[in-house]
Amino acid sequence: LGRRINSAMSELTRSNVVDEKAIDNMLKEICTALLESDVNVKLVATLRNNIKKKINFKDQGPNVNRRRLAQKAIFDELCALVDPHINEKGEGAFKPRKDRSNVIMFVGLQGAGKTTSCTKLALWYQRRGFKVGLVCADTFRAGAFDQLKQNATKAKIPYYGSYTETDPVVVAAEGVARFKQEKFNLIIVDTSGRHRQESELFAEMVQISEAVKPDQTIMVLDASIGQAAESQSKAFKESSNFGAIILTKMDGHAKGGGAISAVAATNTPIVFIGTGEHIHDIEPFTPDQFVSKLLGMGDMRGLVDHVKHLNLDQKETMKHIEQGIFTVRDLRDQMSNIMKMGPLSKMAGMIPGMGQLMGQIGEEESDNRFKRMMYIMDSMTEKELDSDGKIFVSEPTRVTRVAKGSGTSVIEVEQLLSQQRTMARMVKQVGGKKARPKIKRLRA
Ligand code: GDP
Ligand code: MG
Repeated sequence: LGRRINSAMSELTRSNVVDEKAIDNMLKEICTALLESDVNVKLVATLRNNIKKKINFKDQGPNVNRRRLAQKAIFDELCALVDPHINEKGEGAFKPRKDRSNVIMFVGLQGAGKTTSCTKLALWYQRRGFKVGLVCADTFRAGAFDQLKQNATKAKIPYYGSYTETDPVVVAAEGVARFKQEKFNLIIVDTSGRHRQESELFAEMVQISEAVKPDQTIMVLDASIGQAAESQSKAFKESSNFGAIILTKMDGHAKGGGAISAVAATNTPIVFIGTGEHIHDIEPFTPDQFVSKLLGMGDMRGLVDHVKHLNLDQKETMKHIEQGIFTVRDLRDQMSNIMKMGPLSKMAGMIPGMGQLMGQIGEEESDNRFKRMMYIMDSMTEKELDSDGKIFVSEPTRVTRVAKGSGTSVIEVEQLLSQQRTMARMVKQVGGKKARPKIKRLRA
């Protein structure tokens, strides 16, 4: 979809005469692309009319940049299509507050990404200073509690669930009560989903909702379900009256069109998008960012926000660099920082023009190499990590041991140590200068 809209837009940019016919052609292209990506027919018609109305050239003076006008109209109209539509009551603008216990309940079909998104959202708020707890109210699917437990443990988030209690309403109520008593700020309740929109699922959802009285109900929607998004979200809206949507699997080849229809049909905002299977793969949804990406304009704001919230720990290394030191541990910390940022392709997708370039580079391979380097350093002793690497020269058997312990090869360990030496040399040059006493300049 993005590519087609993009090509339609650039066609317009290339053509010298921006007349009504050129605009009409471009609109036709864009509308076809939207229809193909499962956006509802009526919605597309409305969009088309609105854009046409906005770029009525007759009302504009001769000096108006028609191209810019047309592009802006399309951009604005696409944004309006996915806009949160926050009403006067502030509905859809839910923000958990730290001075109370907020309860969020997740609903959605099985496989939509509820359990994954629960943990992602929990971690997202935990990093922003919230005391977050997860409650597993999925007693329907075997292994559901184990999945949540595993996710939560990885992210160091307290969780509640039961292997013996079969009534999800009881587990949900107990879990929420427990966390409320312990003054948690944010309690996220994961529920079970069924394959289809079955009546028992909806009945169960209503019962859990009545038991935990959520401040917010979030529907999790798989971006790849296409046209079904509309009927599905309508059915969920009727029974659970969710106030927000999390759109998952936006990293795949999903056609986001279904989501646009879901937003329009339920008048409910998308609040976050899931962009991968990893626990950090969640981003707040903003219409202009979404549309920018759709139109291939890149997403610098998303990138800056992403990096800012990773809590990258640079302190020790910065101190070391100033002193002209660079240990193996410094190398590990820097690499772990880079890995926290997530797959390079995703970062690149946020930089205008970089996405296409990245497609040609072997992502998986570099990712793999990174991981093996981390395994190597994880197999080292504390003393070795804090050393400048020379310790291995006097004790070559340690290289073999580390290679064995990390499941890598001696060559790889040596390559890593050589990388660290290169960095250390560079740091010594840079930091060495800084560490030298400053020469005071006197002014006459
Ligand atoms: P649930 O049944 O709704 O709880 O769904 P799960 O959370 O168990 O997720 C179902 C599958 O979708 C799992 O394999 C997840 O790893 C995967 N998944 C969830 N969110 C995303 C996402 O944003 N991107 C990708 N690529 N996979 C996702
Ligand atoms: Mg689940």
